[in-house]
Amino acid sequence: MTPTGLSMDVSTTAKRKVLISGASISGPALAYWLHRSGFAVTVVEKAGALREGGYPIDVRGTAIEVVRRMGILPQLQDAHIDLRRCTFLNADGSEVASLTPSAVAGGAEGHDIEVRRGDLAAILYAMVRDDVEFLFGDSIDTFDQSVQGVDVTFRSGQRRTFDLVVGADGMHSPTREYLFGPEARFHRYLGYCFAIFTMPNTLGLSREVMVWNTPGKAAALYAVGGHDNDEVHAFLNFHQPEPPLDALRNPDAQRDLVATIFAGAGWEVPGMVNAMRDAEDLFFDTAGQIRMPHWSSGRVVLVGDAAYAPSFLTGQGSSLALVGAYVLANALAANGDHTAAFAAYERDVREFVAMNQALVDSGAATLFPTTARALEQRNTTLRELVTMPPATARPAHSALELPEFAGYRRGSRVPGYDKRSVPPSGAAWARPVR
Ligand SMILES: Cc1cc2nc3c(=O)[nH]c(=O)nc-3n(C[C@H](O)[C@H](O)[C@H](O)COP(=O)(O)OP(=O)(O)OC[C@H]3O[C@@H](n4cnc5c(N)ncnc54)[C@H](O)[C@@H]3O)c2cc1C
Repeated sequence: MTPTGLSMDVSTTAKRKVLISGASISGPALAYWLHRSGFAVTVVEKAGALREGGYPIDVRGTAIEVVRRMGILPQLQDAHIDLRRCTFLNADGSEVASLTPSAVAGGAEGHDIEVRRGDLAAILYAMVRDDVEFLFGDSIDTFDQSVQGVDVTFRSGQRRTFDLVVGADGMHSPTREYLFGPEARFHRYLGYCFAIFTMPNTLGLSREVMVWNTPGKAAALYAVGGHDNDEVHAFLNFHQPEPPLDALRNPDAQRDLVATIFAGAGWEVPGMVNAMRDAEDLFFDTAGQIRMPHWSSGRVVLVGDAAYAPSFLTGQGSSLALVGAYVLANALAANGDHTAAFAAYERDVREFVAMNQALVDSGAATLFPTTARALEQRNTTLRELVTMPPATARPAHSALELPEFAGYRRGSRVPGYDKRSVPPSGAAWARPVR
């Protein structure tokens, strides 16, 4: 039985065709669940191949249950970074405090997972690549909706018709722009810009993060491997009252902006800026959130960062993407009518999204103070944390209880999926935990 009391068997459901734009986290996760429900799924990704790289990301709370039901929890546990220490530094490189990661991030030690973003994307892709059509190096050019479906013209010139289109194309989603208008209408800028890239591990760091701060600036070196690991993730974050719109479209301007902001900084920062100049994997963006009154229009719907990016300051982007993909697929599996499905998706996941986006006001944002006074307060808090017991998980991460997936054939099994731990359907559907 589904949470709505409806008994679903995919063998009696007409095969609906879904096009997903974006093959990062939310796209392949949604493709997996839709395929399991009997949908014919196509994923179009503008990059020529699956995109690697990115800073390590967290999978937490409810999202852990999603990956467990997909049967990939053991793989993610193997890929878990197992960070040992976070060390905070003053402007001159002297130590403020050295802490366990869970004391800083408020995660549940031994339960949360932290993996390279590229590892998560690759594991998700491997789950679906044989069952789902992938169109790499292409993108949606235009689409027209009618009562029958969505007529899509691709950049490559190909034309096809789908029953539904999903924008899983990230914070700067072209699908959202096409459907709802300019990003500026939905973007809540949080006052920071950041640059991420890899560089040589010259300090010989091992499973640790070093974070250097001055008011309004932060530099971090993140070693996901042991001493023998040649590379570290470098992160330069800075306060900027207005978003640098021109730099967002111009990598050279991004490099110049970051170099200007960090000129004269201490510790390892000059070497980091030099490494950024040569980095081939520079990822530059603003810290911002996407907040929308609705996530769908007609036959087109948004998922993940495209609909509700929470920003890296919450550490919840990938978890929201995984949970949103599950809830959307479940709603489509349970409802033959896409309008009802999209309404159910919004109803059931919106409060969870809001709780997690709200973490930005209390969570990691406080790790990047913009004034000397706020920085000193932050440092005092960090020194106190050294002697405090480990924090427990923040409730927002786990604030959604997942229903049993509506699209399973009766009696079908997924490796690693244990139905017994799933809460009873019906009233338990999307019940917020406080
Ligand atoms: C290469 C990369 C590095 C990242 N690094 C970090 C990081 O260091 N820290 C962090 O917090 N978050 C990072 N992110 C974002 C993070 O993955 C997301 O916040 C989160 O996982 C939600 O995922 P998503 O799948 O909804 O969106 P995203 O991960 O943003 O994925 C969107 C996908 O859509 C594709 N796309 C964009 N436009 C089109 C188009 N027109 N047609 C087809 N496809 C399109 C993109 O290439 C991308 O693969 C990164 C994303 C990428 C793609």
